[in-house]
Amino acid sequence: MRNLLLFVLFLIGLFYARRALRGKSGNAGKAADKGPDAAGGGRQREAEHLEIEQMVACAHCGLHVPESESVRGAGEFFCSDEHRRLGVRR
Ligand SMILES: [Zn+2]
Repeated sequence: MRNLLLFVLFLIGLFYARRALRGKSGNAGKAADKGPDAAGGGRQREAEHLEIEQMVACAHCGLHVPESESVRGAGEFFCSDEHRRLGVRR
């Protein structure tokens, strides 16, 4: 009976330890926002890159796409090669 109680206490301890570890890893992710040199900053740098990237509107349908993903033609930006072929629609 005593062993069973210890086992249950062990399981409860394990549960809280896991939760605490998960909470810590979550806080570490938030701390990475403050320091750019923090470990695991690769994903954040990617997010910054996406934020900096300029969005351009497709001259055919008006859809906003990142400049690097847009298709250029006739001095305008298009969302796809098909819309570049269809041309500007006002
Ligand atoms: Zn388009």
